[in-house]
Amino acid sequence: MSKYTDPVCKLCRREGEKLFLKGQRCYTPKCAFERRGFPPGDHGRDAQFRRKRISDYSRQLREKQKARRVYSVTEKQFRRYYREALSKRGVTGENLLQLLERRLDNVVFRLGFAESRAHARTLVSHGHFSVNGRRTDVPSMIVRQGDVLEVRAGSRTRAYFKDLPAAAESRTVPRWLERDVKGLSGRMVQVPERTDIDASLHEQLIVEFYSR
Ligand code: SF4
Repeated sequence: MSKYTDPVCKLCRREGEKLFLKGQRCYTPKCAFERRGFPPGDHGRDAQFRRKRISDYSRQLREKQKARRVYSVTEKQFRRYYREALSKRGVTGENLLQLLERRLDNVVFRLGFAESRAHARTLVSHGHFSVNGRRTDVPSMIVRQGDVLEVRAGSRTRAYFKDLPAAAESRTVPRWLERDVKGLSGRMVQVPERTDIDASLHEQLIVEFYSR
């Protein structure tokens, strides 16, 4: 699977907004977007002063790329989610965001057990979590309503997980999840609704992009 290996802050600069991909650093003055809020590349600085007419296609493409980068999924995976969203009942754009939001790495992040989705993905793929009592190391697994997720017994002795209850306490949990911070576990109490998901994503533009 192709993996993005360039500095992730370039992605925020490319999309022209903060995507919060690096956890705590995103809230400090060290944030690259705060320091260089123009597109990356040799002509990036000039581009911010250039008035450019943005086509519908460009707007749709950028929105699709933004969502892909926020959830850190490849084009192939993203297209698969879109096809699945299309085949489900309901509004395609909302179905798509719901699927992305229900990925195991995102749920771990939303529960406050990781600093960023990238960090959550690493923790999951190193086998530190179980879902309904079964070890899983697949970050793309779709979590279902009622599923219980917890840090595995063998991982709890690690320094990171020992310190986690204190660190996670200050992180808020969305209403579609329930967390037992001391028990290092969580449960999906309901499927996330559109209002529970990042309001800055315009899913209709993504649907238009794939419907072309
Ligand atoms: Fe984006 Fe965070 Fe990097 Fe800032 S620090 S540019 S918000 S990833």
